[in-house]
Amino acid sequence: MATMKAARLVQPGSPLEIHEVPIPTPEPGEVLVRVEACGLCGTDIHLAVDGDLPVERTPITLGHEAAGVVAGAGADDGSVKEGDRVALFPAASCGSCHFCRIGRESLCDRSKVYGMARDGALAEYVTAPAASVIALPPEVPFDIGAVVTDAVATPFHALRARGALRAGETVGVVGCGGLGTHAIILARMMGASCIVAIDTDRRALERALRHGADFALNPSEGDVRKSLRTAVPGGLDLVLECVGAAKTVQLAIRCLGKSGRAVLIGVGPERPELPPLVAFVGREQAVLGSFGMDRVDIEDLYGLIASGRLNLSESISARYPLAKANDALQHLARKEDAVVRVLVEPRDR
Ligand SMILES: [Zn+2]
Ligand SMILES: [Zn+2]
Repeated sequence: MATMKAARLVQPGSPLEIHEVPIPTPEPGEVLVRVEACGLCGTDIHLAVDGDLPVERTPITLGHEAAGVVAGAGADDGSVKEGDRVALFPAASCGSCHFCRIGRESLCDRSKVYGMARDGALAEYVTAPAASVIALPPEVPFDIGAVVTDAVATPFHALRARGALRAGETVGVVGCGGLGTHAIILARMMGASCIVAIDTDRRALERALRHGADFALNPSEGDVRKSLRTAVPGGLDLVLECVGAAKTVQLAIRCLGKSGRAVLIGVGPERPELPPLVAFVGREQAVLGSFGMDRVDIEDLYGLIASGRLNLSESISARYPLAKANDALQHLARKEDAVVRVLVEPRDR
């Protein structure tokens, strides 16, 4: 039986183990994808470093931000075939429930996240439902194609679909890691008139300014709302919260102006408080959750990259071979230098 290398979570919170496992056989309706690039993200750190996220079973192969080439089987209707360049939608969706049929795959009733509910792409091969792979245009390289599926599509969905950002509006970003940095790049491309970066990490704020933020505010160095009043007197039209803590959600809401929307992409167990209703309702503010992305978000981002409108050449800070998957995770976990995304390239053995 042909085998491959895979970086597997055996014990949550412990380093991944590189195992030699059989190359998976696609189920009916699935394709086999030879992985060219797989990005790592905060979720992987929760799984393999902190051990504070549940997995359905162990051992399980991690990796949910991937692109590669179809190496076996294909869609019955011929829409996906051997040799096609594809990216994986970050959670395998069923393609047939109500939400899949209306293009809202991240809300799929039978969604299975790679690396949590089914084997992921930190391996030489991964299987995926043919209905949940996305064609990668020839102009988009595998590495960028992989990173876009989660690290870029998540803030894009939040800004465009949930936040309904219009050109000329003012935008705040709370938490300027990988998601927040991409949010800043996207908000600029989408015509935000002013972008305010908010983070307690000085290096994250410097990076935010380099990528197009107009103001950088540090809550550990003073009252953010007071500083904001100088920069944007009326308050912000849209604030994206990327941290997932009660305190930062409340900060995001406090930064809103009249008719402002706070869009939350950070998740966690905490329960934030709303402002007094007389202020919140009287100012017609909104708080919106934004989970993942739609297929169309990823497809539109590929189009923007292919046409040269969106440049993500600085998005990948480091690359590792599969055998060094733990070094890659540690690199991301240390949050050193200007890390935006760390990539694993399984073919580079
Ligand atoms: Zn992720
Ligand atoms: Zn579905």
